Amino acid sequence: MIRCVDVYKSYDLGGREVTALTGVDLSIEQPGFYGIMGASGSGKSTLLHLLAALDTPARGEVWVSGKPLHTLGEKELTLFRRREIGIVFQQFNLIPTLTATENVQLPGMLAGDDQAFLDKRSGELLERLGLSGRSTHRPDALSGGEQQRVAIARALLYKPRVILADEPTGNLDSASSARLWGLLSEVANEQQVTVVMVTHEPAAAAYCQRVFVLMDGKVRGSFEAEGLDASGVANRYQQLVRPA
Ligand code: ADP
Ligand code: MG
Repeated sequence: MIRCVDVYKSYDLGGREVTALTGVDLSIEQPGFYGIMGASGSGKSTLLHLLAALDTPARGEVWVSGKPLHTLGEKELTLFRRREIGIVFQQFNLIPTLTATENVQLPGMLAGDDQAFLDKRSGELLERLGLSGRSTHRPDALSGGEQQRVAIARALLYKPRVILADEPTGNLDSASSARLWGLLSEVANEQQVTVVMVTHEPAAAAYCQRVFVLMDGKVRGSFEAEGLDASGVANRYQQLVRPA
C-alpha cells in the first residue's frame, strides 16, 4: 500500500539548505487508519506531501498503491494524485463561491466528468458524511466541522485507496474534532481505504490503529494505538521521543 525506503528531502531557503527528511523508512501493508505524530518541524507535512505525489524525494523510494512515485514525472504525478489519492488539509481548501455539492463535484467538473455520475456520487457522499441537509449551502454558511466533512466528501469522490490528512482538525473545536476522527476511522474500515493522518494531538492518534513517530526527519518508531486512550498514546509517544 505505502512504502518509503530511505527517503531524503531538503528545501532551499534562500541559498541555505534546510533538511526536512533524513532517511525515512515506513511501511503500511493493510488498509486502516494510521497516524503520524511528531513535534513541529519534524517533517510530517513534508512526508505527507511526498505520499500525496505533490512533491518528489531527493533520494529514496516512495511507493503508494503499487506505484513508484519517485520515478514519475510531473504529468504522471498529477494523474496519479487525481485518481488515486484524496487529500484533506487543515484549512479545508473549499471554494467560497460554490455550494457543498459543487465543492464535492469540483475535481470531476474540472476533469469534464459525466454530470449525472457526479450528482449521484456527491449525493451519496454528502449523505454518508451527515450533510444531506447542507448540500446547497456555501462554505460560509457551514460550521468548521461541516466544511471539513465537505472536504472529506470531495476527497472520496473517486474512491481513492489512500486518503491523506494533514492536521485535519487543527481549526475545529473538540466536539467537531472527535466526530471527524470517528468518521475517518469509519471510512477507513468500511471502505478498505488507507487513511494516513498527521497530528500532534494524542486524542486524535487514539483513533488510529498504528501511529508512526517522526523525529528530526526520521521515523523514530511506531506503536499499536488500538485500545489506547489519549493518555496512553501520549505515554507511548513520549517513550519513543525520549533521548536514547
Ligand atoms: P511539520 O509538518 O512536522 O511541522 P514540515 O515538514 O513542515 O514539518 O517541515 C520540516 C522542516 O522543513 C522544517 O525545518 C521546515 O522549516 C522546513 N520546510 C518545510 N517546508 C519548507 C519550504 N517550503 N521551504 C523551506 N523549508 C521548508
Ligand atoms: Mg506540518
